[in-house]
Amino acid sequence: MTLIDRGGVIIIGANVAGGRAAEALRVNGYDGPISLIGDEPSPPYERPPLSKEMLLSPEEIPESFFIHQGGFYGENLIDTYFGQRVEKLDLNSKRVELGGGTEISCEKVILCTGTRVRKLNVEGSSLKGIHYLRTLEDSKRLSAELSPGKRIGLVGMGVIGAEVAASARKLGCEVVTVEPQKVPMARALGEHLGGWLANVHREEGVDVRLETGITGFDGLNGRVTAMFLTNGDRVPVDTVVVGIGVIPNDELAKNTGLLTDNGVIVDNTTQTSNPNVFAAGDVANSPLYYGGNGRVETYQNAQDQALAAARNIAEADAPYFKPQWFWTDQYDINLQVLGDVTSPAEVIVRGETDGRSFTVLHVRNKLVVGVITVNKPKDMASARRILEKRILISTDLLRDETNDLRQLLKISRQTG
Ligand SMILES: Cc1cc2nc3c(=O)[nH]c(=O)nc-3n(C[C@H](O)[C@H](O)[C@H](O)COP(=O)(O)OP(=O)(O)OC[C@H]3O[C@@H](n4cnc5c(N)ncnc54)[C@H](O)[C@@H]3O)c2cc1C
Repeated sequence: MTLIDRGGVIIIGANVAGGRAAEALRVNGYDGPISLIGDEPSPPYERPPLSKEMLLSPEEIPESFFIHQGGFYGENLIDTYFGQRVEKLDLNSKRVELGGGTEISCEKVILCTGTRVRKLNVEGSSLKGIHYLRTLEDSKRLSAELSPGKRIGLVGMGVIGAEVAASARKLGCEVVTVEPQKVPMARALGEHLGGWLANVHREEGVDVRLETGITGFDGLNGRVTAMFLTNGDRVPVDTVVVGIGVIPNDELAKNTGLLTDNGVIVDNTTQTSNPNVFAAGDVANSPLYYGGNGRVETYQNAQDQALAAARNIAEADAPYFKPQWFWTDQYDINLQVLGDVTSPAEVIVRGETDGRSFTVLHVRNKLVVGVITVNKPKDMASARRILEKRILISTDLLRDETNDLRQLLKISRQTG
């Protein structure tokens, strides 16, 4: 074993959460050693474009695709170990072990190990032409198969499946999606808006099969040729993309004795069951804004929770407590979701849900608790302030579309 006796903070996992945690440590005045270790070969990069812009134009990787530009890590004295996996975290000796026999010492650890794709386990699922999408390499491999006229089968119509369907249609592919739930993106949007999204995909020419699963794949010469569905159908395909969710990379934490439960358990300061270890991003199971605990698989959460972890190490006592927010781009639609849009609430629609531009507010006791905007980013900006500042507005005013949400925000501030 070679020991690199650095001390300081080790960040395990180098994507949004890891990259932002390293940056925020320096921004918040931490001047000790920082080591950023990630098993992907690239420095931290943006995953959201992997199912959108990168599938449409894979040859153009803009510099902004990477979370930090130029010589950021060197300039900020952040030691990077990209393409290297942490095999073991030992909290007694305060060391991490990399593959290849290197150990690095540390005082504190931020776990930003994220998630990996859940694999389908049905007959034929190891055939060539069946793809998953999580990394830059996955996106490059998939984009090579998305040419006009190709028949693409999508298993699962969560965010990734829905986005890939939209990109594949834009590229001129024939697309069939198979989803066991009643609507696409059911967990994120609820049934009503999920139904609206199913219609959008149908209007765009996708063959959307709901309440239907996969029983297996047919193949020829080792490559997928068809999907077998639970209703007995056999659907010919050239390529399949499976998007059936993710699994948290919490094994390092579990093996070193930290509390885990579908992710690494943290409190609202991002601290794990050990005071020297913090966790942020997709892997963290944390207290949620509207009660309960859970993992939040969004870009904004990864970024902001990482900032909180860094602040807690640099200054101490920075609680993290934000409503969930995410966006998705499909066809000409920018859809944003904030807060709780699936629990029982009064639902107010501003605009027409048979079009592609409207806002849906979920209200409980005059409090806006959830917002969905479709091509209404300005509404989202105002609604975010109303929701986060817990401004009370009567449902009559919220329904009255003669006032836009920005005006309502102003009026309600003046009156109360
Ligand atoms: C295709 C795609 C599109 C998306 N689009 C959107 C979107 O439009 N909007 C949105 O809000 N969110 C989107 N997301 C989700 C968002 O990208 C994730 O929430 C975010 O990437 C989570 O960041 P993270 O750093 O917590 O984890 P990850 O991105 O999972 O990064 C964790 C990193 O740690 C590495 N790692 C794990 N274990 C080890 C180890 N033992 N040693 C070293 N390294 C390790 C992993 O390989 C990985 O590189 C999208 C995700 C994907 C895949």
